[in-house]
Amino acid sequence: MSQILIAEDEERIASFIAKGLRAAGHAPLVVGTGREAYDHALSGDVDLLVLDLGLPDQDGFTVLRRLREARSTLPVIILTARSSVTDTVAGLEGGADDYMAKPFRFEELLARIRLRLRTEAPAGDGSVLAHGDLRLDLRTRRAHVGDRAVDLSAREFALAEAFWRNPGQVLSREQLLSRVWGYDFDPGSNVVDVYVRYLRKKLGPDVIETVRGMGYRLAER
Ligand code: CA
Repeated sequence: MSQILIAEDEERIASFIAKGLRAAGHAPLVVGTGREAYDHALSGDVDLLVLDLGLPDQDGFTVLRRLREARSTLPVIILTARSSVTDTVAGLEGGADDYMAKPFRFEELLARIRLRLRTEAPAGDGSVLAHGDLRLDLRTRRAHVGDRAVDLSAREFALAEAFWRNPGQVLSREQLLSRVWGYDFDPGSNVVDVYVRYLRKKLGPDVIETVRGMGYRLAER
């Protein structure tokens, strides 16, 4: 479990990221100012910083510059609404490890976080999620049903991962939308149902159960 510091003053986005990270087995810590971000980042208790550029007291670039001046090697992923190339370059030159433009999908952020954490500390046994004879390999991004390997699209994999990480738990369409598609997705969309059908077709019809009026659940194996 990694402790991930989120410096983001927009509450909706902060809680969206925190929720997703918690579901992915990490320990998120949210702060809303650059000053707090800097203090926590230097405390030695966090493994990675997700840093918004537009913070109320000092901007993310300043926080980042001060951290690097203080010889902190903490992995930093910059998060920002500013999507211009100039900002990207400035952020990376300023010592950021990666960059995400808002709006973003949670799975993309999670993939980048994993990559940075892995660079810091090689992944151990947590790279395969198993449920009966169903396995998800987080490194190769493949599913295995018994001896059969199944290729999944990025979105299918993210959806499968949401189920695998919450076995036996009913996940609502809203939860899945937010977790896999992002906070800015139309809540009336039927995209979850469509992708559940894709997963059933690839992994087997009984893998994901429909719980009427509530959502979906990974079936007992
Ligand atoms: Ca902001």
